Amino acid sequence: MAGLTAARHLVQHGHTVTLLDKGRGVGGRMATRRMTDTDPPARADHGLPYVTPQTPEFQALLDQLVDEGVMTRWLPSDSADTITAPGYAGIDGMNAVAKHLSDGLTVYTSETVVRIGTRVAGWQVETESGNLYRVDNLLITMPAPQALSLLKRSGLTLSDIDQNVLQQVSYQPCIAVLASLNQTSQIPAPGVLIPTDGTAQPTGFDGWTMLIDNGQKGIPGPPTATILLNAEDSQTYFDDDLTAVGQRVLTGLSHWIPAGSVELVQVHRWRFSLPATQVNNWYLKADTPFPLLFGGDGFSGTQPCLLQWPNGLESAFWSGRKMAEQLL
Ligand SMILES: Cc1cc2nc3c(=O)[nH]c(=O)nc-3n(C[C@H](O)[C@H](O)[C@H](O)COP(=O)(O)OP(=O)(O)OC[C@H]3O[C@@H](n4cnc5c(N)ncnc54)[C@H](O)[C@@H]3O)c2cc1C
Repeated sequence: MAGLTAARHLVQHGHTVTLLDKGRGVGGRMATRRMTDTDPPARADHGLPYVTPQTPEFQALLDQLVDEGVMTRWLPSDSADTITAPGYAGIDGMNAVAKHLSDGLTVYTSETVVRIGTRVAGWQVETESGNLYRVDNLLITMPAPQALSLLKRSGLTLSDIDQNVLQQVSYQPCIAVLASLNQTSQIPAPGVLIPTDGTAQPTGFDGWTMLIDNGQKGIPGPPTATILLNAEDSQTYFDDDLTAVGQRVLTGLSHWIPAGSVELVQVHRWRFSLPATQVNNWYLKADTPFPLLFGGDGFSGTQPCLLQWPNGLESAFWSGRKMAEQLL
């Protein structure tokens, strides 16, 4: 989101932008898994499930995406006891939203950046496939811990102050369990459960933070459910055999996902999901001879409303926008 937002803004103002992403597609944590080869396939969001806007500018983008037919206003404010604000979800999954945002941009996917360095008047970026990209300005929007690894691999040393800023950003891990089903789940409308103090948990597993029926959320095709584990259990099981973790989670949640309905289970491990600690700035402009900016959801700026949980996608949006404005 941060990279796409920055690129869109810069291109709108006449700049030439090249986006590099190590993923097979764009979107990063706006991720949708195609679980089967059936027609239509069973699909499930396994990253960000939906988003609740806090600022008018982000609300305007989501409204535009609703008008353009890629997002849906999913949870009316009075539709669930545990949810107090409307949420927006991708009609075809969250990844389709990212793809839509990348329309018209120059994007190279499956391009893992392995080294960056300076050249005569700008930056040189090297990818795993051996390609070299030469640019005047460089924006890095991967999670800050990954950016620090990239700097180290590149032999590039930032000032102590800049290094400290990047080190302030930390993330929660998250294990996502995906199940494709032969009948709709028992998750009540509107298709999301969040365990709050008021939510009864008639289950044998209480380490979940969100239980989602992707069909009720709008994703077409065979029914699927996504279970996001909370940070504590994700940490505990992070290095375990994920197949066993998935089975244990689903057995514990059979009240909502009956055992006989489960056709296929897949488990995804996110080392970086939601930020745990953020920098109170929109981005870091490093003290380097040529412009080098670091951004992404680890930067929450000075918007008090973005300090509420969970604010990842909107922080990324603002970070991208502000980085672009800095370069204009
Ligand atoms: C399970 C889960 C649940 C979440 N729930 C919520 C929620 O309820 N609400 C909310 O607001 N947010 C939520 N989030 C967080 C939200 O998805 C993120 O905050 C947001 O998508 C971050 O956007 P970004 O652009 O900063 O980073 P990313 O989406 O991570 O984008 C970074 C990009 O950098 C690329 N990259 C990394 N390293 C390299 C490299 N070496 N070379 C090239 N490319 C590279 C990646 O492929 C990726 O595309 C959730 C995330 C997860 C995983």
